[in-house]
Amino acid sequence: NLDAVEEKKGEDLEGKIEVKGGKGTANVGYFINKKLHVWCRLSNGMWASGTVQSTSGEESIVSLSNGNVIKVCTSQLLPANPGILEGVNDLIQLSYLNEPSVLHNLKCRYSHDMIYSKAGPVLIAVNPFKDVQIYGKDFVTSYREKATDSPHVFAMADNAYNEMMNDGLNQSIIISGESGAGKTETAKFAMQYLASLGAFGNAKTSRNDNSSRFGKLIDIHFTASGKISGANIQTFQHYIRFYLCCHVLCLMWMLFVTFEQSRVVQLAAGERSYHIFYQLCAGASPALRERLNLKMANEYNYLVQSDCLVINGVDDGQKFQKLKEAFDIVQICKEEQEQVFAMLAAVLWLGNISFQVIDKENHVEALADEALTSAATLIGCAPHELMQAISTYRIQVGKDRIAKKLTLQQAIGTRDALAKFIYASLFDWLVEQINKSLEAGKKHIGRSISILDIYGFESLKDLEGIDWSKVVFEDNQECLDLFEKIELELGLTKKPLGILSLLDEESNAPNSTDFTLANKLKQHLNSNSYFKGDRGRAFGVLHFAGEVHYDTNGFLDKNRDPLSSEVVQLLSSCDSQLPQLFAKKMFNQPLQSITSLDTTMQSVALQFKGQLFKLMHQLESTRPHFICCIKPNSKQLPGTYEEDLVLQQLRCCGIFEVIRISRSGYPTRMTNQAFSESYLILFLLSEPIVSQDSLSISVALLKQFNVLPQMYQIGYTKLFLRTGQISALEDRRKQVL
Ligand code: ADP
Ligand code: MG
Repeated sequence: NLDAVEEKKGEDLEGKIEVKGGKGTANVGYFINKKLHVWCRLSNGMWASGTVQSTSGEESIVSLSNGNVIKVCTSQLLPANPGILEGVNDLIQLSYLNEPSVLHNLKCRYSHDMIYSKAGPVLIAVNPFKDVQIYGKDFVTSYREKATDSPHVFAMADNAYNEMMNDGLNQSIIISGESGAGKTETAKFAMQYLASLGAFGNAKTSRNDNSSRFGKLIDIHFTASGKISGANIQTFQHYIRFYLCCHVLCLMWMLFVTFEQSRVVQLAAGERSYHIFYQLCAGASPALRERLNLKMANEYNYLVQSDCLVINGVDDGQKFQKLKEAFDIVQICKEEQEQVFAMLAAVLWLGNISFQVIDKENHVEALADEALTSAATLIGCAPHELMQAISTYRIQVGKDRIAKKLTLQQAIGTRDALAKFIYASLFDWLVEQINKSLEAGKKHIGRSISILDIYGFESLKDLEGIDWSKVVFEDNQECLDLFEKIELELGLTKKPLGILSLLDEESNAPNSTDFTLANKLKQHLNSNSYFKGDRGRAFGVLHFAGEVHYDTNGFLDKNRDPLSSEVVQLLSSCDSQLPQLFAKKMFNQPLQSITSLDTTMQSVALQFKGQLFKLMHQLESTRPHFICCIKPNSKQLPGTYEEDLVLQQLRCCGIFEVIRISRSGYPTRMTNQAFSESYLILFLLSEPIVSQDSLSISVALLKQFNVLPQMYQIGYTKLFLRTGQISALEDRRKQVL
């Protein structure tokens, strides 16, 4: 009974083969038979395609497409899709959704420079690592005119635009993928397409590659008539990994924190700090150098710690001139520019401040040298005030506040925290200024397309021990709660309980270590069924893809950011405008209330949550479109497709899940004409037919083959089939011919 087999296949999406008559297989779902096209797992783990020659049940003889004939265990076989489905546009059209079939389909397209494919609602983009001629004006035009339906980032941008115009809904394009997978390029192409729909002007600023270290949300605003009226950039300083699946309206998140700010004060070998520091040192005019008491890059501790001061072929001095031009363009006036440079120089000088031990308990005091004086002058306070702020902390004793000296390590921590804070605040301030200038003159009617370029993970060399490749992908509130029971009443009476807040709490506790953190997590989270906390310093989180292990090693240090109240107080009393502004912002943070002023002001995890809220809120009100970028090889070579690497990324962005969900519809689409031409021959063999239109022939064919009515929908021009139907017809054809 063909229909029964078909139905079973429809459910059995992994395409498991159960052998007729095989021992212990009660339900025979699929028959391994002669001529069956299969994927065969070889001893090296690779998949090869072939055709079954004969089978004894447990073993089968397979003739591989390279001519070899091998005997394999039948359990190593998976059904392959019929040739007619080779290289389909949309993976949901595949009759068999097993991993080798999906990999093969993408590979097949990739080898023809078809780098885009669909997986239901998700666009997959495989990085070509070479110029492919698919972005020219002619392509823009044909997607605009809908002359082609092959998957493309242009098609997705066009879709978003049309939905925005027709339904009046804000849209978002969410681009995910590993570092180097092509997210930024893809975002640019999406913008290029949208730009072609209207005047685009200023948004060019947002295409600055240097900002790529920050996750970006770029909003492009449109007028009522659909012309672009402005753009807006937002940055997320912490790594956010999340995935939304619009198709079934379920949210899937994996979020994590990294501590990008530490790049200011701490560098890995061969890594530069932010380019801006080197550019300033190399490009400042003599007059500016004098005003800032600026030295060359190799005289600053923060910059010399990694032996990487220059990049081959990059002229930092020239880049500095370009930067000043860019500042002019976004209307940051000369005085403000000078203040920006002063803050950068202050950060550099802070790194040169050293401490001397002043008593037996190892307490220290900052040295009153050029570094201290220069840093103090640049931020606008007296040297002794700065010295005080980074060498002491105050405790409350009865009614009095008493200053206590810091140890060397604490003092260095405080100094570095100040440097990071100034840098981070400066960056936020700049983004704000740029947005203001982009928004000026724009008539915002509330319609926008946001492009979110989420950044890669494996660049996080210093966070070893965390498997970033696994991502939550399910509507699993419980698992999300584990990371953070996101309390909208944050800072009020309820105490937040989740990995992030526990991390934060433990950072502030005296004598805490990675072990006490791990214990704390276990103590509070063991009741959550997604949490596995039974192994020393490590703990596990059950994501859909399996359990992921996290090692708490270094978590605390990363989260500790001892920005003391002395330091914020100091900044707020400075003569210069920017430090005052930064301090004010800090005091205004609503989150501040839950940590005491005398300990951490606002640590990284909390800041992260604030940004996450904003992002969630913003994206919740949009209709999302998803692009999943894939890096086909790690050597950045064209024409090289490493199956393992691709598979891992497909798994991690949940592509198989997406296909599974999407397939519950009618994924196979064919014009009636193509359908009737393909199968008419079968029909002719069984009964003669007078020539008719393709719609009638299709209807007759479906009847003839007993395809159940619930398995298809027929339109005037197109036929929509459920999963697995084509392959059943192909099997039939094989039997008949
Ligand atoms: P990510 O932002 O994901 O880290 P990028 O967008 O910077 O990655 O891409 C890395 C490199 O891959 C680019 O510099 C470019 O050489 C190449 N690349 C990515 N997408 C394309 C594309 N569509 N066409 C050609 N080259 C691409
Ligand atoms: Mg990028």
